[in-house]
Amino acid sequence: MGAITMKEVGIGTRYFDTRLETMPRERLAALQLARLNATLAHAYANAPAYRARLDAAGVGAEGLAELGDVARLPFTVKADLRDHYPFGMFACGVSELARLHASSGTTGKPTVVGYTRGDLDNWADLMARSLFAAGARPGDIVHNAYGYGLFTGGLGAHAGAERLGAVVVPVSGGSTERQVALIVDFGARVLCATPSYALAIAEVAEQQGVDLRKSKLAVGLFGAEPWSEAMRGAVEARLGLKAIDIYGLSEIMGPGVACECECQSGLHGWEDHFLFEVIDPETGAPLPEGRAGELVITTLTKQALPMLRYRTRDITRITTEPCACGRTHLRILRVTGRNDDMLIVRGVNVYPSQVEAVLVGRPRIAPHYQLVVERRGALDHVTIDVEAAPGVPEDDFPDIARDVAHHVKSLVGITVDVCLRRPGEIPRSQGKAVRVRDLRPKAT
Ligand SMILES: [Zn+2]
Repeated sequence: MGAITMKEVGIGTRYFDTRLETMPRERLAALQLARLNATLAHAYANAPAYRARLDAAGVGAEGLAELGDVARLPFTVKADLRDHYPFGMFACGVSELARLHASSGTTGKPTVVGYTRGDLDNWADLMARSLFAAGARPGDIVHNAYGYGLFTGGLGAHAGAERLGAVVVPVSGGSTERQVALIVDFGARVLCATPSYALAIAEVAEQQGVDLRKSKLAVGLFGAEPWSEAMRGAVEARLGLKAIDIYGLSEIMGPGVACECECQSGLHGWEDHFLFEVIDPETGAPLPEGRAGELVITTLTKQALPMLRYRTRDITRITTEPCACGRTHLRILRVTGRNDDMLIVRGVNVYPSQVEAVLVGRPRIAPHYQLVVERRGALDHVTIDVEAAPGVPEDDFPDIARDVAHHVKSLVGITVDVCLRRPGEIPRSQGKAVRVRDLRPKAT
């Protein structure tokens, strides 16, 4: 696949892989079914943890007659990976692996994921496809500020940029002053980072008197944390680039599971490698297209660690309406938030990104915030710590706080306390931003 793909990349080409990205949906569905059944047979034969589940579901190795039958399969959840730590869910021997990644668990063991050479090859292809869809081209300088290491962001974006034929600057997170200098001096056209870290880079540049809007930056691929349209506007205005949302998770692959095209109207989920469903998070029942629910993903080509109906905890909607770019793959509308991050404040369900949408872009405050959640009696109580914009007099803080609380109440529907902070007081992230400080007692 690699050789054909690379030949198609060139001046005037609209896609990284024209045949696969514009495949008619009926053919895409046929390809998905064939690959799904191959995945089931592989998991059944080589992953004992899955074999027992498939037998219990009455599926066995013979496969499914149609894609909708996937609903007969049991879900896989993050706890399954922890329970089978480190390699118990794998469908190949350790010697067949080419790489391991892991995510730090906040409780207990980390989640370990593995890749064969072929898996890494597919990942690089999909990440290159994502970069191309976002507007990156061979020969571009790609400044990769995603963290390198066990986290999949850095190495995932790195391999994709190389596969695209771009020039990778593997800077990772941190040393923000140096990041600004390298972006300017090397002439980076593409920036890969978390959206919150992109904003931190913009802020440090402004403090140094560097106007990144005048740099060569033209495209940013931002992901690994939920972010709002308001944040997109702020990042685009301050960095002078087109901000593209990219989605992925290590349990499925890493970055590049889905990515926006230049139309910025939802993330194309790469359906030749993944089967996407949206379910009711309470009942587990599949939801029709367009309804909001939890995103569930089945891998169709992964060898080392196939995932059958993995519950992502991410809340979103999908659409198969044609996109103006001509790609036929469905679009995942921007992720609202994670089920795990959802707060229940006096009976109202709230995602931090909904609060962000109210905060970012408001006059007299800066787009740096944290939600502090405490338990008062049986109810969650939220205080929003948000920074004043530079130069705003402290005498104005009470008035600004009242204004923010009023807008959160009217637009999100929850009553919050607002605490205005001086510029620079909210910690800046170098990777995934900490948007919620949860002071509630932990369940034991
Ligand atoms: Zn598109």
